[in-house]
Amino acid sequence: MTQTNPSASPADLAGWQALANQLVFENRAYLNGAYRPATDGETFPCVSPVDGRELTQVASCNQADADLAVAAAREAFDSGVWSRLAPTRRKAVLLRFADLIDAHGDELALLETLDMGKPIAHARSVDVPATARAIRWTAEAIDKVYGELAATPHDQIGMISREPIGVVAAIVPWNFPMIMAAWKIAPALATGNSVILKPSEKSPLSAVRLAALAQEAGIPTGVFNVLPGFGHTVGKALALHMDVDCLVFTGSTNVAKQLMIYAGQSNMKRVWLEAGGKSPNIVFADAPDLKKAAAEAASAIAFNQGEVCTAGSRLLVENSIRTEFISLIREALTTWRPGHPLDPRTTCGAIVDQAQLDRIIEYIGIGQSEGATLVEGGQRVMQDTGGLFVQPTVFDGVNNGMRIASEEIFGPVLSVIGFETAEEAVAIANDSIYGLAAAVWTSNINTAHKVAKALRAGSVWINHYDGGDMTAPFGGFKQSGNGRDKSLHAFDKYTELKATWLVIE
Ligand code: NAD
Repeated sequence: MTQTNPSASPADLAGWQALANQLVFENRAYLNGAYRPATDGETFPCVSPVDGRELTQVASCNQADADLAVAAAREAFDSGVWSRLAPTRRKAVLLRFADLIDAHGDELALLETLDMGKPIAHARSVDVPATARAIRWTAEAIDKVYGELAATPHDQIGMISREPIGVVAAIVPWNFPMIMAAWKIAPALATGNSVILKPSEKSPLSAVRLAALAQEAGIPTGVFNVLPGFGHTVGKALALHMDVDCLVFTGSTNVAKQLMIYAGQSNMKRVWLEAGGKSPNIVFADAPDLKKAAAEAASAIAFNQGEVCTAGSRLLVENSIRTEFISLIREALTTWRPGHPLDPRTTCGAIVDQAQLDRIIEYIGIGQSEGATLVEGGQRVMQDTGGLFVQPTVFDGVNNGMRIASEEIFGPVLSVIGFETAEEAVAIANDSIYGLAAAVWTSNINTAHKVAKALRAGSVWINHYDGGDMTAPFGGFKQSGNGRDKSLHAFDKYTELKATWLVIE
């Protein structure tokens, strides 16, 4: 598709549909500088949750493709064509890459929406710019980071430098396919590594398209490869590979644990994991603006159909305002009704696939059988479209021991839990295997800081939900993972520290 001016995106459903009809889907792997089918010719169907249509058949990569990609990545790394390039020159290439992503914004947004069901308005205004921004911010940083000199005796010099780690495999999920990829590939490439990206089998299209833009930007052959396929085939092959130096992952906690095992069974590759969450959103009666708090609590569970690792899926509300707050949330959720994902007015799109929809419906049933009170939603809707849609759903009267409060559903299902004191709220919030994010709403500065300090979570938001940008690290405590994406801290994952010691004769 030809380049589009971002300000000239289609204004309505018909316009986006017309653009979608012109799309030609790249469906092959990108390996050693060229698109090619899987070595054994295998493909898998890429089905749109928007209407159940098969979009294309995508290369289903396997062990042989992983071997070829790792060999190409290693050769490129060893050649120094990228790994030894001056940071300023890598920066220039990555800035071009970011510009190309912006220039192809409509096309990339369409790929995300058709592939995994999110509203086009969000794909265009969130996913595309956040992807470009992640690459641009990281590129701009890379020629401004310095090494260190140790505090040595006068006749010695201790140089502490960062070196690229080598071949990086990045395995990413389907909920924000491009953003999750960008959080990995931007710092990996900026620091000089060679990268193999494995997108989720549920959302491969934008990743394979990005490969062509990376090539056009000037990333050398072999430095960036994209292998679509399944976790148990090509994902596992990369994770067990003896010549992959570093494995970075975003996805579920179960798979994250498996990847640690694979690393131990193979070459002890570095493993960095961003995993699941069950984030508490704590609202005190003295929250500065209850209406705003309710609007953000609604968006915290309905944005991206609740398929968000930081979804505010446990809403802890001080009992004195619980009834009032639930009616405010129900009112706020009227702006989050499911609609056609290609209609720019839609805020809540389709669920990624049938298995995920079944899982959400199953959890709604579990909530009811556990004795929670269904106060909003709970139904599959728009079935006549052939797409996969579910209403944002709210349960009241939840206790933290119920499965709907302790297990990650990854859909628009909110559990409301009452509390009396700050101590009780913190105890409930921290009673989770996860520790990705949390929020606290209060006008009392002491309560805000006391609670924020006590929360065991990688991100804590005060009087808002889901803040942050590329300047702040993102990642989890406990079984939400290790290491951090974004900010300069992300470079820690992709570099080895070297101490070079010189004794002056
Ligand atoms: P998933 O764990 O099922 O899959 C993630 C990726 O791992 C996919 O590419 C998949 O093919 C691959 N994979 C699966 N099994 C594998 C194996 N045995 N070996 C190697 N690779 C394998 O997760 P998902 O369903 O794609 O995404 C949803 C999960 O991602 C949720 O748990 C969510 O919380 C988490 N998530 C976390 C963050 C974060 O930053 N912490 C962000 C987004 C999503």
